[in-house]
Amino acid sequence: MYPVMLSLRGRPALVVGGGEVALRKIEGLLAEGARLTVIAPETVGAIDDLAHRGSLELHRRCHRAGDVAGFALVFAATDDRDVNSRVFAEARDAGIWVNVADDPELCTFYLPARVQRGSLQLAIASEGGAPFVVRRLRQLLARRFGPEWSEWVEAATRFRQAVRALGLPRAAVERLHDAFFAATVDGERLRARVPRAAELEAWLAPHADEAPCSPDQGSTSGGGAALVPFAPRAGPAPGPRPGLVSLVGGGPGDPSLLTLRARQRLLTADAIVYDRLAAGALPCDVGAEVELHCVGKEAGHHSVPQEEINALLARLALAGKRTVRLKGGDPFVFGRGSEEAEALRDLGIPYEIVPGVTAAIGVTACAGIPVTHRGESVRLTLVTAHESSKGDGPQVRWDLLARDPHATLVGYMGVANLPEVASKLIAAGMPAGTPAALVAQGTRAGQQTVVSTLGALHAAGLAAGVRPPAIFVIGPTVRHAATLDWFASRPLCRERIGLFRAATGPGTAAPATGLGSALDVAGAEVIEAPRPLSPAARVVMGAAPLTGWLLRSAEEVEALQEERDTAGWSSEMNAYCLGSATVVRARALGWRNVIELAEGAAPEAIVAAIAARSHLAAFGGEKGVRRCR
Ligand code: SAH
Repeated sequence: MYPVMLSLRGRPALVVGGGEVALRKIEGLLAEGARLTVIAPETVGAIDDLAHRGSLELHRRCHRAGDVAGFALVFAATDDRDVNSRVFAEARDAGIWVNVADDPELCTFYLPARVQRGSLQLAIASEGGAPFVVRRLRQLLARRFGPEWSEWVEAATRFRQAVRALGLPRAAVERLHDAFFAATVDGERLRARVPRAAELEAWLAPHADEAPCSPDQGSTSGGGAALVPFAPRAGPAPGPRPGLVSLVGGGPGDPSLLTLRARQRLLTADAIVYDRLAAGALPCDVGAEVELHCVGKEAGHHSVPQEEINALLARLALAGKRTVRLKGGDPFVFGRGSEEAEALRDLGIPYEIVPGVTAAIGVTACAGIPVTHRGESVRLTLVTAHESSKGDGPQVRWDLLARDPHATLVGYMGVANLPEVASKLIAAGMPAGTPAALVAQGTRAGQQTVVSTLGALHAAGLAAGVRPPAIFVIGPTVRHAATLDWFASRPLCRERIGLFRAATGPGTAAPATGLGSALDVAGAEVIEAPRPLSPAARVVMGAAPLTGWLLRSAEEVEALQEERDTAGWSSEMNAYCLGSATVVRARALGWRNVIELAEGAAPEAIVAAIAARSHLAAFGGEKGVRRCR
């Protein structure tokens, strides 16, 4: 036997069988992120649930020749040995690894028993010959290895990274690893402890000096902070190589408008420094160990001065951390991204720019305003309506912008200055009747579009109670908003709904569930959060009020109840509960707005129930502000 650990994330796997044994295999495979297909004429309820949620593809029929084609891994767990044998023979002949439950002769691989503590896994196997021994050994080891090993292995991983960043000779690296192990592991009793920050510093101190340490502005996670204070030495010994700083555009707010690269950088970061405007775009599956720093930047809120942000980025990078600076929209469009890039360049810190969807493109698209249109608008201007006090007086030439009838003008940061802007444009010859719109909270559940004319826009915005962030759009193509209102015509356009992701293994990011994508397609802003909730998920929840949460079990109710005092919680939130046990628990905890849905309800039925509720709410309050057909 040759032991291997397979990475199954995104790989296609097949389970033939629909009973309890098959269910155990299915759960194990889903926990590792496999793309799962199940073939069985009959299935236990839990498998049906997983299929309803879109966690697996279910074919309700018997096995047929040719079924195994294209899979990386095949399991058979039916109670019919003939079927199992056929699946086995077919897979083996096709060169696909195959395992038949409890039938060692029909296996080309065996599953070890496991003791799992975080990313640490002990595997025990006996070539399939003596499973009872394996089981008992597993129990024995599971008792000896306490839960503390999970945190310990995370600390060990971070320690190894910090040591590696020092660039020391091999022998010195080994000595440091020995020191860590000797001080934290009791080999006799198989116990481990997580070292304190001071101990780590003492081990590493002979190799590195303290970096200039500024207070952790707004950090919401202390998890990774222990290894921060190390910077390059002035002398010959090399310090940690500075971490790459990615200046990432997070788009206009809807997290699904992040680019793939932005998401990849966020999921591999050690530290994330985000603006409040970008908070909603943070992926909920950013690990709990990642440092999160909020640096404000929102009209009317306290924000960290730019110099401090630059210093924070430098400090994180010089400590060897891969750092993401997450900004709203695009980093180079009124985002001061270029100033941050210059500050990093001056310090010799590597950086990159990850472009994002800027408000003028993303928000207008969601408001149904084409920024160019053949025969109507052949130019797009992005302008700030809030000029920096730096520079020699006003720089925006409103008089020039006023003279182009075939253009679209998109103003950022300008709601407060709109009367002044409008009068300058009108004074310079732009007709007061030019179509104009304000779009607030664009791309999000709270998106609000006010269509008017240049002369009347400010008053119309006030009457509608428009709140920042908002852009104004001026030009002939604004007229299209009346007919291209695809965004507001989706049934769940006003909804911001949370749900827990299907359970996954530690550190794995589950693919979006079928239910999540059904809600998304119906127009809801969907927050798929891990359970227990990650710090990143809490940031996202706090970024804007949730209108509802979908709960599938009493345990999920309990998990959400823990969040009652956090920023994301609102007593106005609807609790959509699947199944009576879920409802009973929610009511017992005194929740208001509990809405019962059938256990195992199909995604379409859930969408319809939420839409009905949303429609009611639209007639109840805020009439005419957020339109939804
Ligand atoms: N770098 C960002 C702009 C930052 S300046 C970008 O490329 O989009 C902040 C301004 O952007 C806000 O005052 C507002 O005018 C605009 N803005 C950002 N997100 C917005 C949104 N979701 N809806 C409407 N306006 C938005």
